[in-house]
This record gives sequence, structure tokens and C-alpha cells, in this order.
Amino acid sequence: MTVQTFIPSRDEAASENTVHQPLNTSDLSSVKKLYIETQGCQMNEYDSHRMADLLGDSHGYILTQDPKEADILLMNTCSIREKAQEKVFSELGRWRKLKQQNPDLVIGVGGCVASQEGDNIQKRAPYVDMVFGPQTLHRLPQLLDQHEDQHKKPKKEKIKLVDISFPDIEKFDFLPEPRVEGHKAFVSIMEGCSKYCSFCVVPYTRGEEVSRPLDDVLAEIASLAERGVREVSLLGQNVNGYRGETFEGDVCTFAELLRLVAEIPGIGRIRYTTSHPLEFSEALIECYRDLPQMVSHLHLPVQSGSNDVLQAMKRNHTIDVYINKMEKLRKIRPDMHLSSDFIIGFPGETDENFAETLQFIKDLDFDHSYSFIYSKRPGTPASELEDTIPETVKKERLAQVQKIIKRSSIDKTDAMKNTIQRVLIEKVSDRDPHLLVGTADNTRYVTFVGDASWVGRFAEIEITEIKTLNLVYGELLNLEPDVA
Ligand code: SF4
Repeated sequence: MTVQTFIPSRDEAASENTVHQPLNTSDLSSVKKLYIETQGCQMNEYDSHRMADLLGDSHGYILTQDPKEADILLMNTCSIREKAQEKVFSELGRWRKLKQQNPDLVIGVGGCVASQEGDNIQKRAPYVDMVFGPQTLHRLPQLLDQHEDQHKKPKKEKIKLVDISFPDIEKFDFLPEPRVEGHKAFVSIMEGCSKYCSFCVVPYTRGEEVSRPLDDVLAEIASLAERGVREVSLLGQNVNGYRGETFEGDVCTFAELLRLVAEIPGIGRIRYTTSHPLEFSEALIECYRDLPQMVSHLHLPVQSGSNDVLQAMKRNHTIDVYINKMEKLRKIRPDMHLSSDFIIGFPGETDENFAETLQFIKDLDFDHSYSFIYSKRPGTPASELEDTIPETVKKERLAQVQKIIKRSSIDKTDAMKNTIQRVLIEKVSDRDPHLLVGTADNTRYVTFVGDASWVGRFAEIEITEIKTLNLVYGELLNLEPDVA
């Protein structure tokens, strides 16, 4: 299944990893088609996949990559970037033309901008039929039914279909079992965030932290493993804040959850995103010591390397806290690849503050990381702060950060030469049927000669050649037994 996305993948070799949903082509003319445009983070990508599963199960929709042939267009929006609302309305303007050509076309807007804007979306774009939030996407089939009922009614009897409420985690009770495509899967373990960093809209658009019950998460992962999944990525805005209720009514922490996931037969690799430095606990660090399934790759957002800026951002920790935790982690896993998020040009960031961030980035030796110039998000405390840093200065600072991180990422890929990497074999290469493609712990794609029957297994590969920043070649040393 392919979900269209605004944000290009940071993996240059991502095309090697695209999994296409097999379509039954016997009678495609009568099948209803769904097009989803996804903006933003992995949570949104996960949600888009769930929307497709849901409407596939309830109404028989199949995905299309062409909005022109779709019967329903869904936009899963993100409000993290600057002018997010404007981008949404500009994109909707394009869809309006499609609706003029096909009045039966259904247009829905979900995600964080929908959550923020609510019925304003339909005020500005009356051709939008449905608005739903991240926590109510499970009600899409009902919204669609309501829309179909409304379609037959006179205009004055029509009501606006807007559902952006925050029902506590109810959505997971109504979503169908995720479909399995390939050998990797995302599993959402919690929703929302209660950290209220001063620049961030998430607590307002996705609500406060709510964890899925432990048994639900474990049952979903066990089912995925039975259907061939070997790598799970646990998803949430702040996964290490996970407090899942157990069957007995106790609370399971994130570290405890990881240990239980590692016991599920077939799960050979565990990733997670995103987490907060404050709750990066000793117990979590010990998981890296005890669980070989934990990858030696961690994305831990820090946002700034300056204590003054961290304080203004209300991150509630200092740089030393972050450094100490990472030092402990790297003692256990010296090969740990660390990535992060950086906001550059936060209001009040001085030259000295920025110099601290640069030094911090050098000291921590980050791999691929995300860095952006700060932009005000409506309704956040930081949006009240006076922004006095000239745009040229912000751009210059961002360029410096990105240059250092890119250099470090290149060095890390180069350093893989002659090392042995554990790789999950994901597919036969599109380019050559004798080549297999897999991923290493550090997310680089690894290509090597092998047999198609090995797909879905782990292998130790000696890296012999560096092709690009994200693609290396190697030779098989050892194929792990098939756990199926
Ligand atoms: S921890 Fe992350 S999601 Fe939560 S408020 Fe801060 S930046 Fe936003």
C-alpha cells in the first residue's frame, strides 16, 4: 500500500522499500477508489494507513495514487510547519477543481490542522464534506454514511460533518487489525502529549497523553509477528511516557513494555519514536543492555543545545541531563547512532546560545537529524514571544547546523565499510533479481547477492562498498534461522 506524502523521505533509497498493495484487477472499473495525502510525521503516516484499512473494510475502497480517479480524497494534515493552514487551503483549491468535474467526489480533511481549525475549514472551503481529528478517524465510516444520507437531502437540511473531539483512546477499539505489508510494521502505543513545550501544538491538536492498554498492544504485535512481521516500530508522540493499563489494573511502563515485546516469538527488531529526554529512564537504558532486539539507533529530540533556549522552550531539562543519559547509553552500546530534532532561531536565541548548540551537535556526534527554522504555531505560548532574529541570520544558522550533521552522517556511512551489520532482508531488488535489499540497525539500506526465499529473515552482512549516504553493498556472512 502506498500513501501519498508531502514530505519526501529522507532515505535516498526509499524507492527500494516501497511496498505496493496487490490489487485485484479483475473488475477495477466498479471498485471505489480512495486517495490519501499525508503530511508530516510517522504518526500521520500510521493514521493514514489505518484510514485506508478502515474504509477498505467498511466500504470496499482501494487506494489509488491518482487523485483524478478517486471517489474520495482525504487530506491528513500536519500543523508543525509554518503556514500549515495556508498550505492545506491551497491544496484543497486544487481538489475543488476535481469536485467541479465530479460533484459526487467526497473530500475529507483530517489530522492536526483539522483539529485546530474545526468547522472553519468548511467555512473557507465549503466543498469539503467531512472534517475529523486524529482521535476520531475511526468514525470515518460513519461520517461517510452520514455524508451519503445528506447528499440526498435538500441543501437547507444538511448539517456540517465535523468531528474533532478527543475520546479517550476509543479509536483503537474500532480500528480493524492492521494489514501486513512486508516484514516491518508500525504499532501505535499511545496518543497525544502532556509536555506542553512552549512552541508545540500537539497537546492542543492530539490531546493529552493516553496509553493503549498493554494487552491490546501485545495482542496486536503478536498477530503481526504471526503474519510475518519481524520489526516493529512503537509509535507515539512521547512513547517513553507510556503507562499502559494491564489486565490486572496495574500500570506498565515503556521499559516494561519493551521487555514484553521482545518476548514475542518472531519479533527480531524493535524501534520506537518519538520520545522525550526527561523520561529516558535508567530502566529504558537497561533494555539496551538486555534486549538484543533493540536497535543501536535512537531518535531522541533535544531541540537546542543551549540551556537558556531549552528553558524558554519549556523542555524541563538541561543539556547535561541529555548528555549524561546518552553517555550511559553509549557505554552499553558504543555503536549507538543518535539522531535528533533541532529548532533553529527560537525567539531570543543569541549568537552565544547558537554557538552552544553547534558545539553540542559536534560533541554528541549526531547521525541524520531533522532541523528547522522556528515558526510560530497559533495558540502556543511561544507564539506570544517577540521574534527579533533576522531571517538571514536564521537561515545562516540552519545552514551551519545542517552542514555539520550531513558531514557526520556521511562519515557514519563511510565507517560502515568492512563492518558486519545485522540486516532485516526486506525484498528482492527492483533492479536486479539476484540482489536482496534490507536495512541495517542504523536505517541504511544494504544490498547483497542472495536468494528471494530469504526475504523476511535476518542476516549478518559484511559491508564492502559505500554507494550513497543511505545505500551500501555487502556480502552475506550468516543467515539467521527462519522463525516462521
Ligand atoms: S514533547 Fe514533543 S509532542 Fe510533546 S509538547 Fe513537546 S515537542 Fe510537542
